[in-house]
Amino acid sequence: MRRGIFFRTFRGYAIVVLLLSALTPLLLFRTVRSRFTGSAYSQLSRTAYALEAAFQPLLVDSAFGRMAEMASRLGGLMDMRITVIDREGLVLADSRAEPDTMENHRTRVEVIRAFRGEPGIDFRRSATLGRDMLYAAVPIRVGDSIPAVVRTSLFFADLRETMQDVGLNILAIAGSVLVAGLLVAWVLSGNITRPIRRMAEVARRVREGDFGARAAPSGIRELDGLSTSLNDMIARTHELIGDLTAEKDRSRAVLSSIAEGLVVVRRSGLVMEANEAFTELACAGDPVGRDYRQAVSEAEVQDFMGAALEGRRESGRMEVGPRCWAASCAPVGDTDQLVFTFRDVTEMANLARIKRDFAVNVSHELRTPLTAIKGFAETLLEHAKGDDRRYLSTILRNTDRLINLVKDVQTLSEMEDTAARLEVGPVSVPKLLESLVPIFTERAREKGLALRMELRRPLPPAKADAFRLEQVYINLIDNAIKYTESGSVTVRCQRRGDFLVSAVADTGPGIAPEHQSRLFERFYVVDRARSRRTGGTGLGLAIVKHIVTLHGGWVKVGSSPGAGSIFSFAVPVWKE
Ligand code: ADP
Repeated sequence: MRRGIFFRTFRGYAIVVLLLSALTPLLLFRTVRSRFTGSAYSQLSRTAYALEAAFQPLLVDSAFGRMAEMASRLGGLMDMRITVIDREGLVLADSRAEPDTMENHRTRVEVIRAFRGEPGIDFRRSATLGRDMLYAAVPIRVGDSIPAVVRTSLFFADLRETMQDVGLNILAIAGSVLVAGLLVAWVLSGNITRPIRRMAEVARRVREGDFGARAAPSGIRELDGLSTSLNDMIARTHELIGDLTAEKDRSRAVLSSIAEGLVVVRRSGLVMEANEAFTELACAGDPVGRDYRQAVSEAEVQDFMGAALEGRRESGRMEVGPRCWAASCAPVGDTDQLVFTFRDVTEMANLARIKRDFAVNVSHELRTPLTAIKGFAETLLEHAKGDDRRYLSTILRNTDRLINLVKDVQTLSEMEDTAARLEVGPVSVPKLLESLVPIFTERAREKGLALRMELRRPLPPAKADAFRLEQVYINLIDNAIKYTESGSVTVRCQRRGDFLVSAVADTGPGIAPEHQSRLFERFYVVDRARSRRTGGTGLGLAIVKHIVTLHGGWVKVGSSPGAGSIFSFAVPVWKE
């Protein structure tokens, strides 16, 4: 059972008071009783000694009649029983009974001791009178012998009456002490518990939001320290809550003023915070405090949030009505919350589309006249002589370069369109390479290069767009042959976990480290003059990177000048 602090304190005091008021009278009474009996015995002994002097001459004279008379007279006077007993145990005189009627007293404890020459005392029930009595006996000496003893005795009942009076007084005092003690305990317990109760009351009011509540001083040093700390704590908490509220209001104002949609969601799906822009973008009403699956009405936004909460996506684009949104998410510190931002990129997307369409259209439009120029230049070249031949060759070479450039720009622009363009399916890499290699064998042979294939089987199919994957291999093998003057070009492929990792290694000039990080940028070429000579556009590796990234893979280069280059890339394995 839960008991209050008052009860506990009072119980402690009450136990002490009860123990004191029970033990004190008990001890007092025992002391009083032993004092009373002690003084009764000593009074009996002193009287017996006084009587010994009186009885001794009568005993010498064998005046037993006078002895009996004196015993009964003095016994009456002193309110005491007086008995004279001889060595045989016969009672010679007694103040309360006829000696002839009394039994032999030889075996009485006090009598035995007195005949040994010492004073003897005892407490017992009298066989003659049938009542409890205190006895004291002393020897009556005649010369060296002890012919008889004189015994004095008192009724214990007389003593008990006096002791009872004293005992009752002691009990009355103890009772009053008990009542007074309990009263004091009650008051003291109240004094201690009252301030604690007041503090608990203050804490309760603060919990209910009343920050004006303060604990009053109680006059008890420790409790005053506690109430001061409590008051300080309340003031500090109030201040902190004020600061936090102001901070929250500020954040709210900032959040609602930004154009981006912003929402904070727990992993469980509960929406913790959302600004107006997000509510307008994706919700029918205020989403805060609801599950995003119910609050968010736009399916695409909901799908993205679901995927992000499961850790499958971190960013994405989505169309909501006529607008295009770029979404991203990030964890909020160490919490289980994610913050999502939705940026309106409609204008940017439109511009990008216009740019892309323009590039696609221009390259498309340029291809026809360029092909015509190439055709005519080739025809003219067949009949040209001298300088004309040289000029026509230059025209032809530059036309080829232009055609390549236009082709690459078109490829890149088409791919930028959207990832949805990929026609993903299971692609067998060995088969794809088998059909590709013949394209390069002639060129490799002309340059005296060995073209090798190292496939670590079994190779599962790749999850890829066959046409695009082919383009990646073509660009890389084409570069390897183009930049390698002697040695070999090796194409490798192996499975690594969930990816197929391919590599195109050559024994060419290699690439200096400062260029390596920029190789995959558009139009980046290491040696512009050489690139021009070889008909390079600076777009081949940019296309490779774009395709591989669209497949969810990666591409990297490993090379050092003079030691050849290895271009490796990974695409996912096809899983049924
Ligand atoms: P390009 O059409 O000029 O070859 P790429 O984008 O394919 O354009 O390559 C970019 C540059 O990277 C090239 O200009 C070339 O300097 C360098 N490069 C690409 N492949 C190799 C290779 N295998 N060995 C040496 N350099 C290479």
